[in-house]
Amino acid sequence: MLDINFIRDNAEAVKEGAKNKGFDVDVDRLLELDEKRRELIQENEAVRQRRNEVASAIPRASNEERPELIEEGKELKEKLQTLDDDLNAVKEDYEKLLLMVPNVPLPEVPVGETDEDNVELRSYGEPTEFDFEPRDHEELGELLDIIDKERAIKFAGSRAYLLKGAGALLEMAVMRLAMDIMVEQGFEPVLGPVMVNEGAMTGTGFFPYGREDTYHLERDDKWLVGTSEVYLVSIHQDEILDLEDLPKLYTGYSPCFRREAGSAGADTRGVYRVHQFTKVEQVAIIPADKEKSREVHDMLMSNSEKLMQALDLPYRVAAACSGEIGLGQVLKHELETWMPSRNAYSETHSCSSLYDYQARRSGIRYRDEDGNIQYAYTLNNTLAASPRILIPILENYQREDGSVKVPEVLVPYMHGITRIEPK
Ligand code: AMP
Repeated sequence: MLDINFIRDNAEAVKEGAKNKGFDVDVDRLLELDEKRRELIQENEAVRQRRNEVASAIPRASNEERPELIEEGKELKEKLQTLDDDLNAVKEDYEKLLLMVPNVPLPEVPVGETDEDNVELRSYGEPTEFDFEPRDHEELGELLDIIDKERAIKFAGSRAYLLKGAGALLEMAVMRLAMDIMVEQGFEPVLGPVMVNEGAMTGTGFFPYGREDTYHLERDDKWLVGTSEVYLVSIHQDEILDLEDLPKLYTGYSPCFRREAGSAGADTRGVYRVHQFTKVEQVAIIPADKEKSREVHDMLMSNSEKLMQALDLPYRVAAACSGEIGLGQVLKHELETWMPSRNAYSETHSCSSLYDYQARRSGIRYRDEDGNIQYAYTLNNTLAASPRILIPILENYQREDGSVKVPEVLVPYMHGITRIEPK
């Protein structure tokens, strides 16, 4: 959520940012509502003050004056009721609209609509070349009997899958390696609730826009998170931290649930886009400092690059264009890994800076060196998401006979399996 004072002072930049991000939000209407809200608050205070004056004057009033004062008191009470009702109605519309105004992308964000407008920043390795016809991960998964979609779909519906045997071990190996990297980098691992209340979804900026993409457990009015970012950021909801407590560097490991409501029919081959996946996520909560935020952003991405280089997978890092940047983000970089079957680098990680957008919504504050209370800044990045990460592993490490060499760095986690062989 943006500060309304910031929106008022930077209305044009806010509108431009929303347009470039592809959000259709009426900033002028918000400013009108804000104006109205402030007028009503002032009027409300004036009437309340007069009513108090009248109430204290009545006992001291003469017999002639008293009926008139009593009448005025009644009228003021009614007026106050109307004003309160008006104020509540305006406030409700105002608060709803305020939550829908996106954060403003930084000037370095390339303006564009789709991931084709993302701008490559650097790359590692070269696209893998094969001297045989490579298989895609779906075919490999079946041949090796490590991914079974057909049986999973039978009892769990569309986009379901099973990881079996070496497939299950491979996912756990990547997750263990990812967690080890996080702990070495000083992040605190947190296993948290993946069923949360609406406040956590709104506070982290996933609602209101992401409701359609989120599973709702209606009987208990709980929502299934699409990422552990929700519980990691919410840990300090409505708290005031001490400056010495910052930065908070957390890493989550959780299942993630996404309805993929807007993606019907897209990426149906293999396990690229599924409803349930597993992710090691990084979250940083830091003091409000733009330069520091930029440093932490790069640090979060370098952690992900460490993992990808350890796996020796070819990747590129790209600056996401404005149309690919979500509601709260001011900057987003994507790490895209080479996927031979797509003949392209495709997204496996996304690193976001949100400044105080989530903290304002979630009430995450700290006392600065002068004792003033400030909203913190938050950032997040994927460290590893599976089964998406299994796609480049299987496809880039495949051999002609369909076997897949296990990346060296994962072997210690694989119970002696160095190569996954066709059944
Ligand atoms: P996000 O939190 O949307 O930035 O996504 C983080 C990472 O999670 C992506 O880069 C993907 O690796 C993975 N991911 C997101 N959505 C899906 C999905 N529907 N199926 C599989 N992996 C996903």
